[in-house]
Amino acid sequence: MRVYSPEDIEYLDRRALEAVQLLRLKKVIAVALATPFYKERLGNVGIRHPEDLECMEDLRKVPFTTKDDLRDTYPYGLLAVDKDEVVRMHASSGTTGKPTVIYYDKEDLSRWTGLTFRSLRACGCRRSDVFQNMMTYGLFTGGLGLHYGAEEAEMFVIPSSGGNTRRQLQLMKDFGTTVVHATPSYMLHLWSQMDEAGVKKRDLKLRKALIGAEPHSEDLRRKIEKLFGIDAYNSYGLSEMNGPSVAFECTEKNGMHLWEDAYRIEIVDKDTLEPVADGEVGELVLTNLIRHASPILRYRTKDLTRIMPGSCPCGRTAVRVDRMMGRTDDMLIINGVNVFPSQIEDVVMKVPEAGNNYRIVVKKNGTLDVLTVELEVGPDILSDDTRDLYALRGRLTEALKASISIKPVVEFHEPGQLPVQEGKAIRVVDERGNLY
Ligand code: ADP
Ligand code: ZN
Repeated sequence: MRVYSPEDIEYLDRRALEAVQLLRLKKVIAVALATPFYKERLGNVGIRHPEDLECMEDLRKVPFTTKDDLRDTYPYGLLAVDKDEVVRMHASSGTTGKPTVIYYDKEDLSRWTGLTFRSLRACGCRRSDVFQNMMTYGLFTGGLGLHYGAEEAEMFVIPSSGGNTRRQLQLMKDFGTTVVHATPSYMLHLWSQMDEAGVKKRDLKLRKALIGAEPHSEDLRRKIEKLFGIDAYNSYGLSEMNGPSVAFECTEKNGMHLWEDAYRIEIVDKDTLEPVADGEVGELVLTNLIRHASPILRYRTKDLTRIMPGSCPCGRTAVRVDRMMGRTDDMLIINGVNVFPSQIEDVVMKVPEAGNNYRIVVKKNGTLDVLTVELEVGPDILSDDTRDLYALRGRLTEALKASISIKPVVEFHEPGQLPVQEGKAIRVVDERGNLY
């Protein structure tokens, strides 16, 4: 077979891309069969050998893998290579419970680096860029994941890791940082600390932010872009699929290219688990085609998205997925009504007076659920006539009610009053306990 260069694999036609996928899938099936877990799962559906899969469609015979499967096989149940081959482990951040562990051998890491390198190039990063990586280094994949891609791209890398906002700003100023990698919520926090840190917008050379690791709306992206006067690119990944660079926006900023030569994508109905119609929203299911130490087949990410129609003007052939609309397990049921936090963010971020942070709190009042949206607002509006504040509260309450069919309580806070996380933002506080 012809050896593809990292450059032209991004532009393969669909047939050639599927051929690459099938070849890689067979290798992954072969290693997966080395684990008792997949040997049994695959055996149950008559797959005992990689050649039992003849085309990519055959992958649909394979049962789904869930986060619970990863937890149940902790720590080594899904390790498919000799322990001596493992050169690194990572763990998911544990947003939804006990963390899950992923192993990488040397080639796994180099293939992942190839993807992070490719993603940085796709969003217009250059060798001359100064790249400050504000994602936490450690078990979380956000830090080290992009680090090696940036080194591969020969960027000037500042591995500043998460937190310590004053130092981050100082580094940005002193070293002329042109690209940062951070969560969207941290970008807003960074902005809110500039005055106090004595750093002005004109002191910075920033031109791009790569934002990911947590859901955010288009309006929040625009807000970050406007505040800093930069371009912000959406970056999606999860540790089960290596980490960052599963899907990344190119300079078109219109959906994220999901690197299909490395990850087989399916979008399924979250209840029936059947494929949805083209372009419909459903749960993202991914098969890692490039990792051998921890093979994971048909992983139910719980993330909701859709495949965007048409092809991208940039010429890359990997499909584009829309920004994540939340996780299936994010959904709140409030007095019987389904509400996704992303619906609330969509409304809140459209309010010009909105500050840099907000929170959704759900409590019980007797038998009823009460939804409170806490929002930081600028100091101007708080010191203005209270009638303005009442009017704003009225507008926001109505807009939220129109979107989510529930009338929330809206509370305003001064800038900096709501808690800020170093890693992923915690937007939802559900204080109802298990009262269902
Ligand atoms: P955990 O599941 O413990 O949070 P990870 O640290 O691997 O584990 O986080 C992966 C999850 O983070 C994804 O499944 C998704 O829900 C969320 N995520 C990552 N990037 C994005 C993004 N760009 N937009 C929305 N959500 C994202
Ligand atoms: Zn593109």
